[in-house]
Amino acid sequence: MTVVTPIKTEYEAVIGLETHIQLQTNSKMFCGCRADIANSAPNTQVCPVCLGMPGVLPVINRKAIEYIVKLGLALHCEIPEFSKFDRKNYFYPDLVKGYQVSQFDLPICVNGWLEIEVEGKTKRIGITRIHQEEDTGKLTHVTGPDGQEYTLVDYNRSGVPLVECVSEPDISTPAEAAAYLTKIRQIVRWLGIGTGNMNEGAMRCDANVSVMPRGSKEFGTKIEVKNMNSIQSVHDAVAYEIIRQPQEIAAGHVLKQQTRGWDEAKQITVFQRLKEGSSDYRYFPEPDLPPLQLTAEFRESIKASLPELPDERRARFINTFGLSSYDAEVLTSSRTTAEWFEAALGTNPTPTRAKSVTNWILNELFARLKESGGELSEVKIQPGQLNGLIELVEKGTITPKTAKEVFEEMFNSGQDAASIVKEKGLGAISDESAISAIVEKVISENPKAVTDFKAGKEASLNFLIGGVMKQTQGKASKDVVTRLLRQRL
Ligand code: ADP
Ligand code: MG
Ligand code: ZN
Repeated sequence: MTVVTPIKTEYEAVIGLETHIQLQTNSKMFCGCRADIANSAPNTQVCPVCLGMPGVLPVINRKAIEYIVKLGLALHCEIPEFSKFDRKNYFYPDLVKGYQVSQFDLPICVNGWLEIEVEGKTKRIGITRIHQEEDTGKLTHVTGPDGQEYTLVDYNRSGVPLVECVSEPDISTPAEAAAYLTKIRQIVRWLGIGTGNMNEGAMRCDANVSVMPRGSKEFGTKIEVKNMNSIQSVHDAVAYEIIRQPQEIAAGHVLKQQTRGWDEAKQITVFQRLKEGSSDYRYFPEPDLPPLQLTAEFRESIKASLPELPDERRARFINTFGLSSYDAEVLTSSRTTAEWFEAALGTNPTPTRAKSVTNWILNELFARLKESGGELSEVKIQPGQLNGLIELVEKGTITPKTAKEVFEEMFNSGQDAASIVKEKGLGAISDESAISAIVEKVISENPKAVTDFKAGKEASLNFLIGGVMKQTQGKASKDVVTRLLRQRL
């Protein structure tokens, strides 16, 4: 943030977010072109339909409708039986047809909500609607070798299924906006309907921000901020507006509805244009598509196909396995992690085992993943193998210290704990006579520590324990070493 003046406490902010999410279907929204355009050369994934040629007819992608209904149900929306597509008319070079097929007054999902948690408090944010539309082409502005500015246009993205999720103006702070988006992205990924990758444009957010005198019932004029490609940017842009708008008001300016852009480099919002009203778009029912009738049967079948959702799963982890809410939160941050955790618990889902599996995942596994830059879904170590490792520690076959070494090897090679221990001779020294011999040796080599200990210096015992552990390469049980040393002294 560049401009930092304290927020005028006599104002409160009102925030509503419009989130566009690309759906990961095989084909585009209304034609057979591939929807995954990530690695395609410009203007190669196109056909007469998504290029808006005259005389062609669109066909609705059934999978996209399933996906939006999934999202709607996960966000507690009603799915009205009737909905329809409308033309939203505007001229812009990325829009070949001169209109975008979208939904105006009868969207597929309405009246939903999701819960966010900020600073330990749960808050419900209303979802006004989620409607289905098609993505536009992509413009890239470049400066040519002659210094001339050009705009390049790529229509691969034209017609990729897109949904727009509109929140109620229930969000009050930048942190809540960030929590809301994090939750939406988590659910999109959890349902497997999109990547939610904001940096790739697969999820995009416009933030509407207004301020009003604290306690007022009447909202102020909303300013829309576009072009943010991370949750952090949305957070920062909203924070910026909450400071800027009261300053404008204090300076005697009347705020007008406008669209601003987020300048990431300067960390400021900049004026783009006065906001168009919906009447400017001349919406009318799409004549080339039939209205959608979503039967109760269809809705129920989608509902039945929904996985256990993150909030439910988190609650179950807390209630059944006694996990802390922090642990449960981290383990349910993605479906892969939650599933890995449960698979690792296997047939022994006691709270103690759950805690130790959690610790292994959150500490060792995540650390290794971070180092290697890999994905959990691709790791060599299998969840069941972690259980095997934990059992070796519990049985005293290996020490906790050795276990970390074994884990690293398991992570690298995908081998079982038991075979690594056997192959490398890592088993703990459980034979007391063997440990006794080393205890004797350490005692005779360290007469001063022995005398100090006998004179009452407890710390010297730790020194002697350390000596034994060193000679056994950490493979002796610390408890046994301590007991034998005490007995002997
Ligand atoms: P528009 O027709 O201009 O797009 P909408 O009524 O569809 O406006 O609202 C767009 C978004 O703006 C929604 O997320 C809504 O919650 C939010 N919003 C509406 N009024 C305000 C306001 N006064 N301040 C902040 N956000 C608002
Ligand atoms: Mg709107
Ligand atoms: Zn096409």
